[in-house]
Amino acid sequence: MTVTILALVFIIFVLGITIFGFKAVIKQGKAPGDLHKERCSICREQFVKSQLIEREVGDHRVYFFCPSCINKLHGELVSKN
Ligand SMILES: [Zn+2]
Repeated sequence: MTVTILALVFIIFVLGITIFGFKAVIKQGKAPGDLHKERCSICREQFVKSQLIEREVGDHRVYFFCPSCINKLHGELVSKN
């Protein structure tokens, strides 16, 4: 009997941690589908991370650039020469 009660308490404890952890993820404002999305550092539009070019500047500042912004920058560079 004691073992059954201990097992039940343990299951409730584990379930509580699972629910608490899930709520903590939601509180961060990022749903599981948004975890792989980032904003372009220039136009601030949101993209899937795999579509963006990532560059680390300085110690830990990370910038993301979307294809259309890179094309615009390239266009500006070409028009200068
Ligand atoms: Zn952009």
